[in-house]
Amino acid sequence: MNAKPRGRQFFNNPGPTNIPDRVLRAMDRPVIDFMSDEFVAIQHACHAGVKRVLKTDQTLYFYNSSGHGAWEAALANLFSAGDKVLIVETGYFSQSWEEMAVNLGIIVETFAADWRKGADIAKLAERIAADRAHEIKAVLTVHNETATGMVLPVAEIRRALDQARHPALLLSDTISSLGSIDYRMDAWGVDVTVGGSQKGLMLPTGMALTGVSGKALDAARKNKAPRHYWNWELMNGRAPQKFMGTAPVHMFFGLQESLRMLEEEGLDAVFQRHTRLAEATRAAVRHWGSDGKGPQLFCQTPDRLSNSVTTVVMPEGTSSDPLRKVAIDRYNLSLGGGLGPLMGKVFRIGHMGDLNEPMLLGCLATTELAMRTSGIPFVAGGVDAAIESLAG
Ligand code: PLP
Repeated sequence: MNAKPRGRQFFNNPGPTNIPDRVLRAMDRPVIDFMSDEFVAIQHACHAGVKRVLKTDQTLYFYNSSGHGAWEAALANLFSAGDKVLIVETGYFSQSWEEMAVNLGIIVETFAADWRKGADIAKLAERIAADRAHEIKAVLTVHNETATGMVLPVAEIRRALDQARHPALLLSDTISSLGSIDYRMDAWGVDVTVGGSQKGLMLPTGMALTGVSGKALDAARKNKAPRHYWNWELMNGRAPQKFMGTAPVHMFFGLQESLRMLEEEGLDAVFQRHTRLAEATRAAVRHWGSDGKGPQLFCQTPDRLSNSVTTVVMPEGTSSDPLRKVAIDRYNLSLGGGLGPLMGKVFRIGHMGDLNEPMLLGCLATTELAMRTSGIPFVAGGVDAAIESLAG
């Protein structure tokens, strides 16, 4: 073990992610009054900027919380105990959102799916069409399942609802796709989008958000379930901030800078960079497992591979936990672990947010080094495959 690791830690967790120096510097300033004109102007600019990232003209609310708070805000505003929702299973995070809904007294039907293959949208469309009594109040989706490294075609789910003329609301968690993978709240007819600060927005953890459609605001107005901190109506009354309690001034300083960075690069270029880095990561993993014995991609549906995180299955008889320990203790490389039933069975390479080619190649090379020193079987040369992918 390195007693005192030198150099920068290579941080490839799929959230929180690297915070750019520019964002850190923007936050390194004295506090200002959160009721001042100066702060209100910053907050308005941030609302407008996040709406451009979400591709929405609808209403946005921010909370002092991690992503869980925005999950709860969506549920608490829209549903009463006994209401029924349909959640599309994607992995650990759809299960966690489901658990929260159940704890709030909401009746949850799970649309089951194989975590490695993803939900069958045609069958989901049949299920939606079969609900002729419109008992399902909403369909809950996780756009990018951070545990499995797989995206869900949210627009196809909206099409299924429209084709069935089903009035259910469409909710989508974009926590690990926001600012990393194209997301179109309005074009896809999403009623509530759930986001967080610590991934593609490149900020510390601690601020979450929801984009809310007019239809969802109407549903919330009619919902009599008790709620307070998350209450959108109450928040509307807190003009000009629309914020419950003390606004996290420094998070907004950081957000203003991270939005500037995203817009200077250009959103499309940001998404292309994520695609390039993800493809290089996948090229490395495919090479490591090319003999059928080494690590493999967890996601088995090629057109749903995530461009913000890659989940890697460990070879038979090996565990990812000691490998990750070697990576961090000896080489100062932080990799994500497996969540829920995937604990020990997979590791995750986060490639979202403030990342470039040398940072990714450093991560992949060090992962190879850690696999070699841990005795994990793999086909050497994954880094060359990644370079080939990047060069092409
Ligand atoms: N949803 C997704 C897809 C996530 O990746 C996460 C966290 O990683 C969450 C929800 C929960 O967010 P938080 O940990 O910020 O509460």
